[in-house]
Amino acid sequence: MPSINYDGRLYSLDENESVLDALLRNGINAPHSCKAGNCGFCLMRAAEGAVPARAQTGLKDSWKAQGYFLACVCRPENDLAITTVGEDASLGATITSLDLLSSDVMRVRLHCDAPLGFRSGQYVTIVREGGLSRSYSVASLPHESDIELHVRKIHGGRMSGWLHTEAKVGERVSVLGPSGECFYGPGKEDQPILLVGTGTGLAPLYGILRDALRHGHRGPIHLFHGALHKGGLYLVEELRRLVSSHGHVSYTPAVLNGEEADDLAVGAIDQVVFRRFPKLSGWRGYVCGDPGLVQSLKKKLFLSGMASREIFTDAFLPATQRS
Ligand SMILES: Cc1cc2nc3c(=O)[nH]c(=O)nc-3n(C[C@H](O)[C@H](O)[C@H](O)COP(=O)(O)OP(=O)(O)OC[C@H]3O[C@@H](n4cnc5c(N)ncnc54)[C@H](O)[C@@H]3O)c2cc1C
Repeated sequence: MPSINYDGRLYSLDENESVLDALLRNGINAPHSCKAGNCGFCLMRAAEGAVPARAQTGLKDSWKAQGYFLACVCRPENDLAITTVGEDASLGATITSLDLLSSDVMRVRLHCDAPLGFRSGQYVTIVREGGLSRSYSVASLPHESDIELHVRKIHGGRMSGWLHTEAKVGERVSVLGPSGECFYGPGKEDQPILLVGTGTGLAPLYGILRDALRHGHRGPIHLFHGALHKGGLYLVEELRRLVSSHGHVSYTPAVLNGEEADDLAVGAIDQVVFRRFPKLSGWRGYVCGDPGLVQSLKKKLFLSGMASREIFTDAFLPATQRS
């Protein structure tokens, strides 16, 4: 079995054990959260040894080259010498604006001390003073001077509650990332694209949609945004304006509870999508937001003919440990 050298001590891995699990089993309080390769909080660096490609999925190329990896999904086949990442991979950033987009969604803009080098739709991990960290998807475009996040207020939520009620413009945070593979890749400019999300799942989709247009995407782009009720929808006017200036883009806001109207669909978001587009062979799809929705839609898109390599998702998994 391979072993890991951490802080000058050797730890052997059990069969199929991740680096993170081995550290935790040995009583090392390694930072972690989702344990599914999503949140990026368990980022580490291999000073020596080859890291499996799976453990670097979604990391930026410069990080891959420097040996950064996600410990929770790293099951090495050879020995590794590893270090925690701490401050060296994070960027300082200043909160430049805080605007409510709906009763429970705050648009948070941050100006990073250096360019972040992200693709719209990827996510970053925000670290507050004291070390609390949470991931948020990037809704802005790479050339914009500030990054834009959409943060839903969670009852009792430590990061979202702070951003909604206490954080002030001018305050400093750290930003880790970007991570994730949910972004527009140029090259198939005539392919139909489906974007589906609920709640703040709109954040990455808003970024991806505008990034696709910026890259000159010519194929139809259909955005479906779901909420429980009308008040849960946001950026409605901005999206309608965007549709009116791009004939190949459509936007369908949908609510679970409410009255059907010309400009509003009613029903579960997956039903609304498949009523309109039952067959999706040859399409590309992006699904973001609620983990249950992401999981079930991913399967349904595949069953409707979308190739699995054309399905990009980001599940907004809650953090699982106190940090
Ligand atoms: C890849 C990724 C991208 C993400 N992008 C976004 C984004 O763009 N916008 C956004 O708003 N969030 C996003 N999230 C979720 C975000 O990281 C936090 O989990 C969320 O803001 C709650 O953190 P908190 O500190 O406020 O709540 P916590 O203090 O962690 O939790 C407080 C309580 O609320 C519960 N809880 C946590 N999350 C939820 C939830 N979603 N629904 C119901 N109960 C919950 C917890 O179990 C706990 O009991 C993303 C998550 C991931 C992994």
